[in-house]
This record gives sequence, structure tokens and C-alpha cells, in this order.
Amino acid sequence: VFLFTMKKIALLGATGSIGTNTVDVVTAYPELFQIVSLTFHSNSEKGAALIKQLKPRYVGVGSERIKKELGDRFPEVEFGVGEEGLIKAATLEEVDVVLTAVTGSVGLNPTMAAIEAGKDIALANKETLVMAGKWVMEAAKKNNVSILPVDSEHSAIFQCLDGQAQGNLKELVITASGGSFRDLTRVELESVTLEQALNHPNWSMGKKITIDSSTMMNKGLEVIEAHWLFGTDYDKIKVVLHKESIVHSMIVFTDGAYLAQLGPSDMREPIQYALTYPTRLPIKNERAFDLTQIGQLNFEPMDYDRFPMLALAFYVGKKGGAYPTVYNAANEVAANSFIDGKISYLQIEHFVQQAVENYQETTEVTLKEVIEIDKQTRTIVERWIKEEGRL
Ligand code: NAD
Ligand code: MG
Repeated sequence: VFLFTMKKIALLGATGSIGTNTVDVVTAYPELFQIVSLTFHSNSEKGAALIKQLKPRYVGVGSERIKKELGDRFPEVEFGVGEEGLIKAATLEEVDVVLTAVTGSVGLNPTMAAIEAGKDIALANKETLVMAGKWVMEAAKKNNVSILPVDSEHSAIFQCLDGQAQGNLKELVITASGGSFRDLTRVELESVTLEQALNHPNWSMGKKITIDSSTMMNKGLEVIEAHWLFGTDYDKIKVVLHKESIVHSMIVFTDGAYLAQLGPSDMREPIQYALTYPTRLPIKNERAFDLTQIGQLNFEPMDYDRFPMLALAFYVGKKGGAYPTVYNAANEVAANSFIDGKISYLQIEHFVQQAVENYQETTEVTLKEVIEIDKQTRTIVERWIKEEGRL
């Protein structure tokens, strides 16, 4: 038996891929975890099933229509809509930890509100840290809250760094699976379809992150995420192609020793670790994992010409300010437009590149300005997409 008090969780983005894995983790240990609030955007059928199963006190939804529909069905539950609903779910008095599993920078304001209310953050929503990492980390420090990574690479690094002196660290090595189009050339990419892009070799995830994995945008976001989470200079963050997704990431010490974290491709592990840290618990129905069956692990250098979005991440990261904000916002619009069939695959990169080139920063920006720049970038990229259409 371990020392662990019941943790009360707010789950933002409960109906998604991370949300579903989190519900698995939480319901495997009903004596340890309770979901007191949750949010979802539009899938009211799945949302209603979750309300039945988890009996949260508060639920944030995406529209007045869903609030009305579910409010009639679940009179004992309090409902909220949109950003207000997300913020209320994240800041309820009894909440200990907020698991941020929404997609995109809609996560920023609820995450900031939760930090200011003193809630720990189990962070899956990497876009928030890319958009405004400086301000999120400052607020976390000021309010003495922990930001625990859920992203598998960052969880791996977090596990490797635990108990190590900062001065001993030489660099971080983030592994990349390569996504759905790892073996295609740039010419072959011109005609790929959404269906092909959504077919990730190792992980089953939400649509946007699956597209981001194929463009290597996801790895770019993760480089910036690592910079903020661990306070590591961009020159000390390396990315290697590792198509098996078994080594989730590594750290290298000043004496040249590597420490790696390995395991099955199962998001329940990093999710659970973020919720139980520093305790470890068995994963119920854990996946078979046998290194002798896997046999070989391969590591290859990243090709930055093949994956320009990764090179661009280092560029915007080093520039700092709102450059990463622009990079992320342009991608959110472009990736979602590809998902909606409005642009072709390579246009995603084109619009992200163009947005970054178009942006110029001369004075230091504030958080308020960053939020404004995020909005402006979306408007600009949406206009370009309307004008240029599908090539
Ligand atoms: P998903 O698309 O499966 O789920 C997204 C969730 O967010 C859903 O519950 C949806 O209702 C909600 N949502 C979507 N748009 C919203 C909006 N405008 N307002 C409020 N809520 C909204 O996505 P996912 O794969 O679970 O990813 C969630 C986050 O976790 C992303 O930031 C992603 O990068 C990160 N992440 C995911 C994985 C993974 O394995 N899926 C791994 C690492 C990190
Ligand atoms: Mg990841």
C-alpha cells in the first residue's frame, strides 16, 4: 500500500483520444481518482455516456444546444458552454489536477486560469505551451504548481531527468516515428490523401495530431514544448528518427552516458505517471511488450529538407517572442483546412512557412499581444486559404 490521497481531476477534452485513455486510467483506480469535472466540444453521444459513467459535478460543452439537450437529461449536473465552461471546469474548488487534453490553443485560457487557481496541470495540450510557453511557465512558478508532461516524449525525458542534477545534462534527444509518410519523397507527397495521412503506423490519436505527425509539425511543437517544460536551450535539443516508437526519448549526460525510457506505444502509461508521480502503479490490461519480439531498434538522422516544419520549429523557437505562436496558429488553421478538404497536403507547410515569413516582431510582446497575434494569424491564413484555394 502506498501513500496516496484521492485525487480530484478536471478532464478537459474528455471525448478525445487522450481523454478516452485518461478515463481508462482513472476508472482502473476508483479508490485513487475521481473525475469531478469534464469538458467536450461536440460529440454529445459520447459525452452523455461519460456523464453516466463518471458522474461529474460539472460539465463544459461546445454549444448552448448541447447544454440544453444534456441539461434536460442530467438535471443533477451543472453545465457551462465554450471557454467559460472550460475555465469553470478547470477551476472548481475541489479540483487538484487539470488534465488538459483539448486540441489547439483553446487550451490556453483554461490552463492559465487553472494555474492561477493553484491547480497542478497534467499537460497533453502542447499547443498551449508552444503558443505562450513563457507566460504559462512563469505563472506556474509564481503559483507554485507543477506542470507534468503527458506527451510520451516529454514524459520519457521527465522520467529520465528525475533526480538528476541540471548541470550533468548535455542534451535531450527526442525520438520521432516519422508519421504516416516517413518513406515518401517530397514529390510523392503532392498527391497524398487525407485518408492516407490519417493512417499512423504506431499510434492511434486524434486527427489533428496525426496530420501534425506526418508533416513533422508535431515534432516541431514537441521541440518547443521541451524547451519550455525543461528549460533547455534549443541547441541542446536533438531529434532522431526512430520508427519503432519504443524508445520514447532520451537524455545525454555531460560524460556521454545516455539514459532512455522504453515501453509499449500506450498513452495510458504517461497519463498515469502524470497523475501518480512519483508513485508507479500497474496498468490494467497492460499491452504485451517483449523486446526479444521487437528484436531491433533503429535510429536515423532527421532529414530537415524532407521535413521543413521541423527546421522551422528551431527557427521560430530561437527567435522567441510570438514567432512560435504564429507557427502554431498557422498550422492549426492549415492542418484543420486539410482535414476539411479545403487545401492539399503540401499547402499545410506552404501556409505555415508563409505565415512565419510574413511575421515581424520588433519589440518585446506581452501575453495579451500574443493572444492577439494568434487571432490575427488565424484570420490571415484563413484569408489566404480562401484566396488561393485548393491547388
Ligand atoms: P482529439 O481530437 O482526439 O480530442 C480532442 C478533444 O478536445 C475532444 O474531447 C474535443 O471535444 C475537444 N475539443 C476539440 N475542439 C475543441 C474546442 N474548440 N473547444 C473545446 N474543446 C475542444 O485529440 P487528442 O489526440 O486526444 O489530442 C489532444 C491533445 O493532446 C492535443 O493537444 C495533442 O497534441 C495532445 N497529444 C495527444 C496524443 C495522443 O496520443 N492522442 C499524444 C500526445 C499529445
Ligand atoms: Mg508526442
